[in-house]
Amino acid sequence: MADAPVGDDVYGDDPTVNCLEAKAAELLGQDSGLFVTSGTQGNLLAILTHCQRGEEYIAGTKAHAYLEEGGGGAVLASVQPQPIENQPDGTLDLKSVRAAIKPDDFHLAITRLFCLENTFFGTPLPMDYLSEAKALVSGNGLQFHLDGARIFNAAVSEGIAPDAIGGMFDSVSACLSKGLGAPIGSVLAGSRDFIQRARRWRKMLGGGTRQVGILAAAGLYALQHNIERLAEDHEHALLLAAGLGEIDELDVHKTDRRTNMVFISVPDSKRESLAGFMHDRGILVTVEENPIRLVTHLDIDRTGIHQTIDAFKDYFLRAA
Ligand SMILES: *Cc1c(COP(=O)(O)O)cnc(C)c1O
Repeated sequence: MADAPVGDDVYGDDPTVNCLEAKAAELLGQDSGLFVTSGTQGNLLAILTHCQRGEEYIAGTKAHAYLEEGGGGAVLASVQPQPIENQPDGTLDLKSVRAAIKPDDFHLAITRLFCLENTFFGTPLPMDYLSEAKALVSGNGLQFHLDGARIFNAAVSEGIAPDAIGGMFDSVSACLSKGLGAPIGSVLAGSRDFIQRARRWRKMLGGGTRQVGILAAAGLYALQHNIERLAEDHEHALLLAAGLGEIDELDVHKTDRRTNMVFISVPDSKRESLAGFMHDRGILVTVEENPIRLVTHLDIDRTGIHQTIDAFKDYFLRAA
C-alpha cells in the first residue's frame, strides 16, 4: 500500500485504482469496474443507476440491500423496494417475483430491477436458479443486480470461475473487505455505460476520492492472492460445525452448501454469559442475535478453530 503508484482518481488517473477496477471487472465478467467505499455504496449506486425516481426494485425480505442499508434506495434514490420473502436457501420464489412485477398502470410504481444476494447467509445460490431468474428478468425487461458481497465464496464453493456467476447480471457489487481481507472497499461492476453513469452518482454521494490508490492496492492484492484460499475458510467452517455439533445443547444449523459461516442456536439461558466467557479465551462472539453467526476468514487458522471448539465445549460443560 505504501509503495502504490497513485494519481487523482476523480480525474481517472490513479493507476492503481484503474488496475483494480479492470481486474475486478474481468473477474466478475463485466466490462468496467468502479472502486467504492463500501458494499452499501455499491448497492445504492446500482439502484440509483438502474432506476429512476418512482420506480421500484425487487429484493428479498432478508436481503442486505433491502434490510440492512438504512433504506437508502428509498431515501436517496426515491426508489421503493418490493420485498419478497426469501426461501431458506436464499432464493426468491420466481412465481412470486413474476406476480410482483407491476403492469403498466399509473397507480403503480414501475418495476425496474431485480436484486439477488450470493452467497446468502453463507449459502451459494444454485446456478440453475440463477439461469431461471435471468430468463425471468430478460423476459420482462428488468435489470438484474447481484449483491455479490461474497460472490468469490460462492464461486470457490461451486468450483467455478466468478465470471460464470457475475456475467449473468447487469451489475455486480463485490466486497474486498470481507473474506478477501482488504481493509476497506468494494467494487461495482457493469457495462461501460452503466459504470460511467454510476461514477456520476458516486461523485454526488461524496464517493469520488483522490490519491486512493493506497487503498486500491490492498484490494488488488486481495483479488490477486486471496480468492482461491477462501477454500480454506470453507474447510475451517466445516471443521467448526462438526466440532460444535458434538455439543448437545447447541443447535448447529445444517446445510449441504456451507461456505464460511456457521449458525448456531444457543438456549437463551446460556446466551448472556457466553460472550464474556469467550472473550476471556480470546474469542469475540456477538450474542445479541440468536442464531449466532460464526464466520471464518483469513486471520483464523486451524489452531484457532480448535481453540474455539474447545472453548465452546468448556463453556457448556462448565455451565451444565
Ligand atoms: C457486508 C455486506 C454488504 C455491504 O456491507 P458494507 O459494510 O457496506 O461494506 C452488502 N451485502 C452483504 C450481503 C454483505 O454481507
